[in-house]
Amino acid sequence: MRKTRTPPRVLVVEDEPEIAALIAYQLTREGYRVETALHGATGLDALHRDLPDLLVLDRMLPEISGDDVLKALRGDPATEAVPVLILTAKKDEADRIQGLELGADDYLTKPFSPRELVLRVDAILRRTRAARGAASGGGPILHAGPLRLDAGAHFVTLEDEEVRLTPTEFRLLRTLMERRGRTQSRRQLLTEAWDVDPVAARRMHTRTVDMHVRRLRGKLGPVGDWIETVRGFGYRFQKPGA
Ligand code: CA
Repeated sequence: MRKTRTPPRVLVVEDEPEIAALIAYQLTREGYRVETALHGATGLDALHRDLPDLLVLDRMLPEISGDDVLKALRGDPATEAVPVLILTAKKDEADRIQGLELGADDYLTKPFSPRELVLRVDAILRRTRAARGAASGGGPILHAGPLRLDAGAHFVTLEDEEVRLTPTEFRLLRTLMERRGRTQSRRQLLTEAWDVDPVAARRMHTRTVDMHVRRLRGKLGPVGDWIETVRGFGYRFQKPGA
């Protein structure tokens, strides 16, 4: 496990030099080590050369798009666990949520305030650390049919096969399982699983939760049906028909 004193390393892939420099400046000021890449290809190189603690990824890149970088990252066991914050200029909801469907942990719509970016980066790294830290600290083992979530080992299995989850997906599943049978609002889930304060949660899009639930359901096979949509409220984890 990483020593807490080592400043986290953030890779920024953004083709607009001014924005890349602004992000690097702001994160460096907050104590992060930052590397920037202006292209998808150089970004992927940097990713493989020295695995960052977090990737800030612009969706709209020339040649290799941010979406393609994200697909490549999530599809490679060496890089799949790197948390990703995507930046998008697109106003259209369908375009914005597409990045989440591809496995981003969170997204920011341009223009964004540098402060907001830092808060999101902090929150993603906090929950990643919490998930990793749990591996040495023990934790409950939760069961649901053939699904087993070991909170201490940060490990999920379905019929004894490992289910690979991003840190955000893991936190979301753990939160839902721990509150089995109780409806959780999207805001509650943002506060708990995304580890943001309630004020920040109000600024985030609740669709973020929907997209992660959709991905999670897809990974959980038959247990995906246990994540029940409670129309107008949020989600509830319980055995179908219970
Ligand atoms: Ca761009």
